[in-house]
Amino acid sequence: MNLMIVIPCYNEEEVLRETTKQLSVVIDRMIDCNKVNECSILYVDDGSKDTTWSLIEELGQTNKYVHGLKLAHNVGHQNALWAGLEWASDKCDAAVSIDADLQHDINTIELMVEKFKNGYEVVLGIRNDRQTDSWFKKNTALFFYNLMQKMGVDVVRNHADFRLLSQRVLKSLMSYPERNLFLRGIVRLMGFKTTEVYFDCNERFAGESKYSLSKMLNFAIDGITSFSVQPLRWITIIGIVSIFIAFCEVVYAIVAYCKGVTIPGWTSLLVSLWFIGGMLFLCIGVIGEYIGKIYKEVKRRPRYLIEKSI
Ligand code: UDP
Ligand code: MG
Repeated sequence: MNLMIVIPCYNEEEVLRETTKQLSVVIDRMIDCNKVNECSILYVDDGSKDTTWSLIEELGQTNKYVHGLKLAHNVGHQNALWAGLEWASDKCDAAVSIDADLQHDINTIELMVEKFKNGYEVVLGIRNDRQTDSWFKKNTALFFYNLMQKMGVDVVRNHADFRLLSQRVLKSLMSYPERNLFLRGIVRLMGFKTTEVYFDCNERFAGESKYSLSKMLNFAIDGITSFSVQPLRWITIIGIVSIFIAFCEVVYAIVAYCKGVTIPGWTSLLVSLWFIGGMLFLCIGVIGEYIGKIYKEVKRRPRYLIEKSI
């Protein structure tokens, strides 16, 4: 079989040399044991601002496994990964997507290949624990998974974008036209024969996380709004509840008037004014979120542009 390892990289000059070295060892071993016939590493440079691309070029000359794809500008992890998978979809029997920073245990790739040979078309890499994550990352991730599940989105806990996809799955994936990418959601949606492998997550080999807080937040919002219309329904429910409360207030006001205990109340007036105003803004915001999505989808802009390839 022909395997392609797809790795999106954004400012990863500090780790690529080591990643290539370690991956080469794994690939050599797989080839020696006849687990794979051919294997390549595809680095997708997601518009890095450092020397990542020249490093990929250099590695491409010295290492027979290394190939590279340079995107014209930074399009984010999901889109960069898509670019790599699309590139791989007609060049291999299966592709493994993995992060550049060696957090995903690369020895798990062998296990994934075994599962693939046993007939599985989707093999999800699932981390055993989150010990290497900061308190903040651990808890925000937990909150995110819970929220997604409440909204009816099928997500696998502790599975990021470390997975093997067969060529058939890759080709099917490419027929999904959406621009708001949440790959792990789409993969779940597609079905196919799926299994899981478990791995221990390492510390990032070097450098800082390339997922800033704002990128993480955007990713979470994209994940929810591109897979669930539940927030829109909540607005309707909020509206119904508000009307009910208003009705109760009317009854209360009439009773109070009859009893003669009405006092001109600034506070209640002001509070409700702000409350309703706030609710309205919130609701408009959520609706706007979806309209924004529609706006992006109808433009049909390309997900990425390739500048060079080696
Ligand atoms: N990445 C990317 N484009 C971006 C941000 C990140 O291609 O805009 C890549 C990054 O180089 C890495 C992977 O996505 O290979 C995961 O990023 P990172 O390890 O920084 O995220 P974390 O593990 O902290 O969630
Ligand atoms: Mg990482």
